[in-house]
Amino acid sequence: MKSTNAAALLIVRLSLTAAALLLLPVCSTVLAQSVRGEGSSGVDIHIGVLGLFHPSQVSVSAPIGSALVLHTGDERIVLEKSSGVDSASIRVSGDGVAVTTGTRVVRASKLTVSGRNGEEVEFVLAIPEKITRRYRGTLQITRSDDTLIAIVTMDRETAVASVVAAESAPDAPLEALKAQAVAARSYLAASRGRHQEFDFCDTTHCQFLREPPAYGSAAAVAVAATRDLVLEYESRPFPAMYTRSCSGRTRTPAQLGLSSAAYPYYSVECKYCRAHPARWSSRISAQDATALHSSDEAARLSLDRRLGWAAVQSNDFVAKKESDELLLAGTGKGHGIGLCQSGAKAMAEQGADFRQILSHYYPNTTVSACPTLPQGSGGLHRLRDFPDFHLPHE
Ligand SMILES: [Zn+2]
Ligand SMILES: [Zn+2]
Repeated sequence: MKSTNAAALLIVRLSLTAAALLLLPVCSTVLAQSVRGEGSSGVDIHIGVLGLFHPSQVSVSAPIGSALVLHTGDERIVLEKSSGVDSASIRVSGDGVAVTTGTRVVRASKLTVSGRNGEEVEFVLAIPEKITRRYRGTLQITRSDDTLIAIVTMDRETAVASVVAAESAPDAPLEALKAQAVAARSYLAASRGRHQEFDFCDTTHCQFLREPPAYGSAAAVAVAATRDLVLEYESRPFPAMYTRSCSGRTRTPAQLGLSSAAYPYYSVECKYCRAHPARWSSRISAQDATALHSSDEAARLSLDRRLGWAAVQSNDFVAKKESDELLLAGTGKGHGIGLCQSGAKAMAEQGADFRQILSHYYPNTTVSACPTLPQGSGGLHRLRDFPDFHLPHE
């Protein structure tokens, strides 16, 4: 570590992490399924979006084939391409928001957007001249001081499918995608409430920067086939970590200066990566290198946040000094903890099913149906002030 201050901060962070992990909810409460579409879990996940921009104005529009219903107090506005009114502009106004469609302006304390029957819907949210993004879910916009707060609510299964689509190689076999789906669902189920007002944000803090996959895509099929299944350790779901590629053996959190009270993890053999290590190399300045140590994941993350994710891609590397630079040569991608995505793909190609893959990378766990965790049941809420920790993979 570079300074005692940083070391002290890390210790505080890890001890709070350990405390927070003890608060994980038990996966036993099975609530009645609410009336929803086929394949939904009955559990909503709330994601704060575009907060990084602190927007005072946003626009919502309906893509082709989508009808959006905007609710502002008693007013109901329908946005639809075929009707000629397909977008609305929302800005901070008075105590709430002002919604403009064409020449009509409606003021309200908040705006909600959904399908005709309150269901999830495809919509486009944009900050003019800055960013445009497509979502599937329902949307709520409120204000806090001069900033609009946009929260997308989506069914947990939609969220799982979005993560699987983003995390998987396009040619990954179905059983590998199913293993990824169970790991992602476990993370979402066990780590909710990372923020005060919502569960996850869309920055690197929570890494929920995802677009939903197409209906019928391989990711969607894998999610439907594993619906409600999560990984449990000692009868509790845990925020399962996963990594792009290990170096022939996965790592334990303890090997990397991390703690994980929810699940100990294990260092397991990964035959594929042993035979086909993913190699990388980079150069960093000697000054940047002073904070770097191959058994300190927090130091690697903070360096990569500053220099970019290609700077130090894993914790398995050797360093060679060349004048005032350090030449790094490493293998693996990501922290190396938990499920190895490259190894899981190879296991599936050789005939393993998703349960065999999961029990290989997460020994001593069970795969259990966890239809619902009660809303606001805690999870890792104490972690909200510790942005560096417990991303499933980086
Ligand atoms: Zn966050
Ligand atoms: Zn591996």
